[in-house]
Amino acid sequence: MIGDQFLLLPGPTPLPERVVRAMSRQMVNHRGSEFKQILISVTEGIKKVYRTQNQVLIYPASGTGALEAAVVNFISPGDKILAISIGVFGDRFAKIAGEFGAQVEKIDFPWGQCADPQVIKDRIAQDKKNEIKAVLVTHNETSTGVYNDIKAIREALGEHPALIMVDAVSGLATVDLKMDEWHLDVVVSGSQKAFMIPPGLSFLAFNERALKVHNKCKNPRYYWDVTSGLKYLEKGQNPYTPAISLYFGLEEALNMMLEEGLERILNRHRNYRDMVREAVKAMGLELLAPDHCASCALTSVRAPEGIGANKIRQYIREDFNIILAGGQQTLDDVIFRIGHLGYVRELDLFSVLAALELALLKAGYQMELGSGVKRAQEYLFNSYCK
Ligand SMILES: *Cc1c(COP(=O)(O)O)cnc(C)c1O
Repeated sequence: MIGDQFLLLPGPTPLPERVVRAMSRQMVNHRGSEFKQILISVTEGIKKVYRTQNQVLIYPASGTGALEAAVVNFISPGDKILAISIGVFGDRFAKIAGEFGAQVEKIDFPWGQCADPQVIKDRIAQDKKNEIKAVLVTHNETSTGVYNDIKAIREALGEHPALIMVDAVSGLATVDLKMDEWHLDVVVSGSQKAFMIPPGLSFLAFNERALKVHNKCKNPRYYWDVTSGLKYLEKGQNPYTPAISLYFGLEEALNMMLEEGLERILNRHRNYRDMVREAVKAMGLELLAPDHCASCALTSVRAPEGIGANKIRQYIREDFNIILAGGQQTLDDVIFRIGHLGYVRELDLFSVLAALELALLKAGYQMELGSGVKRAQEYLFNSYCK
């Protein structure tokens, strides 16, 4: 029996029933007191996840919208920008800055590796005249399954006045991030990853330093304008009609997240990563990311020699209705990606690992059936004893 679809993408992620039910209700006046109360409550909840006391604005847009909002509010045409890229999303942030007139200098690290803070430190040390206005960096690179050490990268900037702007769309609530403690100026996130709600909302957090830059920023903007967003937020409103249903879902998802607790959420994602990685290694497969910077949100697995990653995904989809992500761009058919962020249980991961073993065998790969699942079970069993 095929049954319901089992979505294990690194976004959109599965929705808890509580979230689905919360969203299934009538509209309210987006300029009325009921919405005001929700807006205040979700903004406070998001701040807790960001670990910030600074400002957060919520946009009715996917994550890319808030990346664009970060660019048009905090970068002026002609500004020199250092963009650190370790994959597709690092490239995207750099591209957006370039489209809005920044002079972008890119530092690329090989796909599958994290950024080396020393390289950034050396580049910043050369900028004696403080020409670099902002450093763009990805927290968790979803295309490769690698996370960057944002704390170390921030420290590499030292006293240099450039803003650090972080794309934490898939990283927030899967890998640790402390916006205020680490002095991050701008941090972007989105709804369809660890927040467990559908795509369509994105979050832009920024501190006082960023706000000062914003006040002098010359990029044209209307929809994304932070000044207007803050002015309306004071009244408990958005400048324009928000995605009301998604706010209902967000409120419930934040309740769930705060009930579980951020530390426990982060811990759970770390355990999923380790469990999946050990299991996949036990199957004899290779992982794209090295252990020291492997993402807690997803695991990228290299398909075995001679077997395309997309064939494995196809078998898993056809036989079990499990949806895994493929590789993007040069990694297409080279890797497949198992999402394990948001509303995912150990049990879900056991199923995926079992299905993966069967799909591998069907595709002609030689391995002992059960070796990965067994390793995952051992991992979980040992974790009870810790
Ligand atoms: C998902 C994601 C985005 C945003 O993508 P959208 O499709 O616009 O939501 C940006 N950066 C990273 C790292 C992501 O994982």
